[in-house]
Amino acid sequence: MSSRVRIRPAVKEDLEAITRLRKQAILESPQQDEPREHLIQWGAVLSEERTLRRIAEQCLLVAETSGEVISCNCLDLDEGEMVGPVVKEGHRGQGLGKRMVTEIERLAVQYGMRELITEAAQPRIGFFNACGYQVRPGASHEPDPRTRILSIRMSRRFPRRQTRYGARIRRLLEQIGIPPDYGRERRLKLQAECQQLATIGTDLRGREQLMQPKAAMAWYEMRNAALSDGIELNVASAFRSVGYQVTIIERKKQAGQDMDEILKVSAAPGYSEHHTGRAIDICCPSMPPLEECFENTEAFEWLTDSAHRFGFSMSYPRNNIHRIAYEPWHWAWRNSS
Ligand SMILES: [Zn+2]
Repeated sequence: MSSRVRIRPAVKEDLEAITRLRKQAILESPQQDEPREHLIQWGAVLSEERTLRRIAEQCLLVAETSGEVISCNCLDLDEGEMVGPVVKEGHRGQGLGKRMVTEIERLAVQYGMRELITEAAQPRIGFFNACGYQVRPGASHEPDPRTRILSIRMSRRFPRRQTRYGARIRRLLEQIGIPPDYGRERRLKLQAECQQLATIGTDLRGREQLMQPKAAMAWYEMRNAALSDGIELNVASAFRSVGYQVTIIERKKQAGQDMDEILKVSAAPGYSEHHTGRAIDICCPSMPPLEECFENTEAFEWLTDSAHRFGFSMSYPRNNIHRIAYEPWHWAWRNSS
C-alpha cells in the first residue's frame, strides 16, 4: 500500500479533512471523564486559524491515497512539538504513522532542532517508544484541560549525524550574535551548502557566478527563452557559501548597522537560499540591481508569467511569513528532479 500513499504538505483545501481526522482521534482517546463530546472545547483544540497558519508554514503534512486524506501530522514551531500523527481507521497497522513521524522529524532537523517533544495519549506510548521516544523524566499523565485526554510528555533526541550541520550553524550564530532560535522563529529552514557547482558566467562586475548544475541548466534555458522574447536577464548573485554570508553580516555590523535591520535583508549564515546553489538574484540593464524597483521592469513581468515553466519561483513576496523584506529579484529553482 505504501507506494500508493503520498505524503505532502497540506493545502487550504485539506482543512475540512484534517479537522475531521483530528476530531475522530480525540473522541477515540481515553478521557479522564466520560467521553462526552460537549466537555471538549473544540474551538480551542481545532482552531481553524491556527491550522491555516501551520499550512502556510508548510509544517502540516498529510498523507493521501486515491484523493482521500487519511493521515496528518504537524510540527508546532512555537512549542518545538509534534502534534500527531493521526491515521484514519482502516489504514492503521501498516507503518503509515511511523512514516508520518519520520517526515515531521526531517522537518524539525531542517529547522535546526536537536530534539522533538510530543504529548502522547496513554495508549500510544508503545507506538512512540517504537519510534524512539522516551517519557520525559518527571513527566506524569495529565488530562488535557481542553480535551480531558490523559497524556504524557515524551521526547526523542536526534542522532548527531542528523544535526551536525545545525550544530555548526548554531556555533556560528552565537559568534556573530544572532539568537539560536532564529530559524524557528523566522520560519526559515537550514539550507545545505552545495558542494558541486557549475559556472553560469560572470555578473556585471565580472565576478564568476556559480549554481548547482541542474539549476544552472534551468537558468540558461530561462535566460535564453527570455532573450528570444526580447528580455535581457542578468545575474547579480548566485551561490554564496556559509563563510561568505558570515563576511556579509560582519561587514554590515562593523558599518554600525543594527542586527534586526541586517536580518531583514540578509539571511543568517546557514539559512540563505544562496547556499544551495539554487537561488539567483536577477537584474536587468534598465534598473540598478537588488532594488525593489525591479518589480516595475519588463524583466520582472516576464519572470512572473514564465519563470514557473523553468522551475523557478520568487522566494520572498511582500509580507512573507519570514519577515524578510520584499525581494522581487530573488528567485529559486525548486525542482527536485
Ligand atoms: Zn538573493
